[in-house]
Amino acid sequence: MSFAPIFPGTVSASGRPATLGVMGGGQLGRMFVHAAQRLGFFTAVLDPDPDSPAGRVSHHHIQTGYSDASGLAQLARLCAAVTTEFENVPAGALQLLAAQRPVAPGAAAVAIAQDRIQEKSHFVACAGVSGVRCAPYAVIETPEQLPAVPADLLPGILKTARMGYDGKGQVRVKDAAELAAAWAGLGGVPCVLEKLLPLQAECSVIVARGWDGRVVSFSPQRNVHIDGILAVTLAYEGNMPPALAQRAQLATESIANRIGYVGVLCVEFFLIDDGSEHGALVVNEMAPRPHNSGHYTMDACDASQFDLQVHAMAGLSLPRPRQHSPAIMLNLLGDLWFDAAGQPRTPDWQAVLALPGVHLHLYGKSEARIDRKMGHLTLTGVDVAGVTSVARQAAHILGLDVLDFLR
Ligand code: ADP
Ligand code: MG
Repeated sequence: MSFAPIFPGTVSASGRPATLGVMGGGQLGRMFVHAAQRLGFFTAVLDPDPDSPAGRVSHHHIQTGYSDASGLAQLARLCAAVTTEFENVPAGALQLLAAQRPVAPGAAAVAIAQDRIQEKSHFVACAGVSGVRCAPYAVIETPEQLPAVPADLLPGILKTARMGYDGKGQVRVKDAAELAAAWAGLGGVPCVLEKLLPLQAECSVIVARGWDGRVVSFSPQRNVHIDGILAVTLAYEGNMPPALAQRAQLATESIANRIGYVGVLCVEFFLIDDGSEHGALVVNEMAPRPHNSGHYTMDACDASQFDLQVHAMAGLSLPRPRQHSPAIMLNLLGDLWFDAAGQPRTPDWQAVLALPGVHLHLYGKSEARIDRKMGHLTLTGVDVAGVTSVARQAAHILGLDVLDFLR
């Protein structure tokens, strides 16, 4: 598709500077808005929540549901191009917007990422080129499929095909009886059963692909999840074997290319023990948007994942990002706002902010809740040992139980 760039600072006949829109008003939308505004763009956020993190900082905040015809019409009227910050945005809404404005990523790509069954088929199709497979799996949509599940998929993880995130919508099952009970417990909705793999490590790759097909990527980052939620990202050379890092990067590019993806895409991988020297790479899932594991790019790279999202959707040149500092990111969940007795408290920001190379990002959420992503902390410095040492101090001050992963 040919695409005329939307230059920042262009003022339309209506007197309004070029405006970029985003479906969803969470923290990813907020960081996107910040990046767009730095280039001089106006922004519009569509999110029903009057108190949404992105809506609070945007020039325009359309407070309607994601499928609301008047809200979508208003977004299309205001914006020169539209993106999304969460994958569960109704694909129909993106289609409707795309009839009027450039939308990146497109509805078809988002629809694949929304549904684990389609996502896995896409990974299987890409494996021919990338050589990277996904975990062995079976689709379960009807009760008749339960007894037909191959025994070697157990023990496994049953995942709902749609709407899962941060480990929600997943149940670990040991045998056929547990599987049947778990499927019923999930409401009998379409699911995939994945073999439980011996994970050595997890990593992710973030790429950006433009309308012209040009792809730029960040080096893979290594991720630590606790209870299904990202806790730590290690972003520095040597965080994983170089050969596997390169394979993960090429696999991600092929996953984006095959569907003509436009925008920022994150693909998650597992490193598993297969008896070989470095282990094997397995592709897990993709997010059609900037990703929590790429937040360090704001402070450790000369272009962030949000800058690249702005560039990609607006048809601007995609610079090859360069990481100028090793980085560690610590996620700050709402748990930190409560003491051991469950009483509200304020984390000791004074002590954290006194540390060198500390970048505190808070998302402006008015209410802290357990497991809610409230912010993150990125540590940068001249070398990995120094960054690791400061990350340990920050984790200690905040009471984050992640010291085992910071060595
Ligand atoms: P979500 O959409 O919640 O991020 P994921 O499929 O990424 O769902 O699963 C969340 C976490 O659960 C993963 O990051 C990994 O730690 C663990 N996990 C998921 N699938 C498997 C698997 N097949 N084998 C072992 N661990 C897994
Ligand atoms: Mg995941």
